[in-house]
Amino acid sequence: IFYYPSERILEINLIPMSPAEDQWAGVLVVLHDITAMRRLERMRSEFVANVSHELKTPIAAVKGFAETLLAGALNDKETAKSFLQIIFDESERLNRLIGDILELSKIESKRIPLQFSPVHLQTFIENCLNVVNSEAAKKSIELEMRVDDDLYMEADEDRLRQILINLLSNGINYTPEGGKVKVKVEATTGSMGLDKEQIRMTITDTGMGIPKKDLPRIFERFYRVDKARSRSSGGTGLGLSIVKHLVELHKGTIRVESEVGMGSKFIIELPVIH
Ligand code: ADP
Repeated sequence: IFYYPSERILEINLIPMSPAEDQWAGVLVVLHDITAMRRLERMRSEFVANVSHELKTPIAAVKGFAETLLAGALNDKETAKSFLQIIFDESERLNRLIGDILELSKIESKRIPLQFSPVHLQTFIENCLNVVNSEAAKKSIELEMRVDDDLYMEADEDRLRQILINLLSNGINYTPEGGKVKVKVEATTGSMGLDKEQIRMTITDTGMGIPKKDLPRIFERFYRVDKARSRSSGGTGLGLSIVKHLVELHKGTIRVESEVGMGSKFIIELPVIH
């Protein structure tokens, strides 16, 4: 009798032994645990299904509005203009989606070697805030930074910028007008179970927050709390997944604390020296 945990998948191969004339015939039984392989296959096919679905939506919009224009809507200038704007926006979305999918696939297959160099964190955070400044100003969102003086770390600056800008943009996106997005950077020790010094970056917003049940899943590819809202704000649902991979490439960790209506806090911890 063979006992095995039920959630695992076993492949059983029976290989007949060719017996010599006066010997026992036998069967060689080879058990192969293929659970991990199957899980990977399932994740891959789910990803392909998700990608196809995500790409189909903007393509259907472009096609539909172009068809309506061709069928006569072109004659009404106002209608034509608004349809063309939709076609333009959806093409942009497609572009962003394809860019993010390629980026994620490059990162996941580790085809991007990181270029480590010393980064002066105060200057770095100022630059990141400059990038999102106009986005925040449109919604009268106040940006605030608190970075300990003279903090440096070893990082791939472009990738680190991608992490910060993604989290800052989300903070701005999911915070109503007049809110606040704050970045705090400090040196800490020990909480990653390492003796090495580390840097903790905290990005806090006063926005809508994330329901408890969604918290464990928001770093998954294409996972959104509110699909319609994410779409209308131009989101691809891949940002946090890319962020998590980039943090891990820096040997760091990322976690989130959030409460609906109270805002969200993303905490990244990274080793100072790679
Ligand atoms: P998206 O492109 O949809 O923003 P992300 O991967 O960046 O995708 O984020 C996944 C989901 O997590 C978002 O759709 C949103 O529901 C939620 N989320 C991310 N950041 C925040 C935040 N700062 N406040 C509230 N919800 C957030």
